Amino acid sequence: MQYRRLGSTGLKISALSYGAWVTFGRQVGRSAARDLIALAYDNGVNFFDNAETYNAGEAEKLMGDVIADLRLPRDAYCVSSKVYFGASKDPKPTQRGLSRKHVFDACHQALDRLRVDYLDMYFCHRADPDTPVLETVWAMDTLVRQGKVLYWGTSEWPAERIEEAHRVARENHLVPPSMEQPEYNLLHRERVEKEYASLYEKHGMGTTIWSPLASGLLTGKYNDGIPDDSRLGQPDNAWLRKGLLENDGARLKTVRALAPIAEELGIPLARLSLAWCLKNPHVSTVILGASRKEQLSENLLALDALPLLTDDVMSRIAKITM
Ligand code: NDP
Repeated sequence: MQYRRLGSTGLKISALSYGAWVTFGRQVGRSAARDLIALAYDNGVNFFDNAETYNAGEAEKLMGDVIADLRLPRDAYCVSSKVYFGASKDPKPTQRGLSRKHVFDACHQALDRLRVDYLDMYFCHRADPDTPVLETVWAMDTLVRQGKVLYWGTSEWPAERIEEAHRVARENHLVPPSMEQPEYNLLHRERVEKEYASLYEKHGMGTTIWSPLASGLLTGKYNDGIPDDSRLGQPDNAWLRKGLLENDGARLKTVRALAPIAEELGIPLARLSLAWCLKNPHVSTVILGASRKEQLSENLLALDALPLLTDDVMSRIAKITM
């Protein structure tokens, strides 16, 4: 495993990490979750990603249960939560968003579900147009000073909103955000590469990137239809299927065009796609989302493929994906 600093912080996280999104408590039950976390940890993964909204809090409960059962030393791994969407299917007005109240309540609930005394990382899962940025920054600062959160960050915030968070933190002597959690993969490059370009140097922003395989599209498994046992084959994930596949096949066309490059290099397309994300120096960690041990074992090999990504290979990939 390789360890990278989370932006300009001193925290060293594994370049490959593991998350629970639509898998934990749905495709992945307790025994499989235990095997997956154990496999990840044994291979050097030290960051496990979660959110209040994943399976309405159940994904955090499952992760907390499994980590406690595995007796992972608390000082050897990092765990996150995210606040914004709420932890129920129909949240009341005070049970979602980034108000001081919900940021506090959600933090305490996540600590309880994950069975930890502090969150290593706590993300604002989206920007909240109904809450002043200062209120949210102040709430995060308080949680950091109380020792309940070590590093706080944002997820999918527009660059100007992240700038605003830094400005109000500076003006009020509050702790600024340390990291952002954006989607980044061969089919989705713009925000990480262009919109955020000025933030890395200026604010030392780290990134914990999500959906590095675009929910599995970048394995090629959807090229000839939707397998029943896949993520997009799950009836609950119709919204995700719609978002990812209803673009006149443009994404799948790109996936098919990338396949020969992986073939030439003698590696699966998934490994090439993950290595490509790792190649970006602004990526602190690539969050993997495997639903099976075989997938996770395969994906953990991505770092070994980095030397194959020569300038020539990178420019061929760029021609297909830009
Ligand atoms: P990926 O894009 O890597 O998709 C993971 C899925 O792809 C797996 O569950 C599996 O689906 C399939 N897959 C993975 N590896 C392979 C393989 N080798 N062969 C075949 N199929 C494979 O990651 P996620 O979309 O899960 O995102 C990773 C994490 O990022 C999440 O768990 C979550 O923690 C975080 N996230 C954050 C968001 C945010 O807004 N901040 C949003 C979304 C995710 P299957 O077996 O079901 O087909």
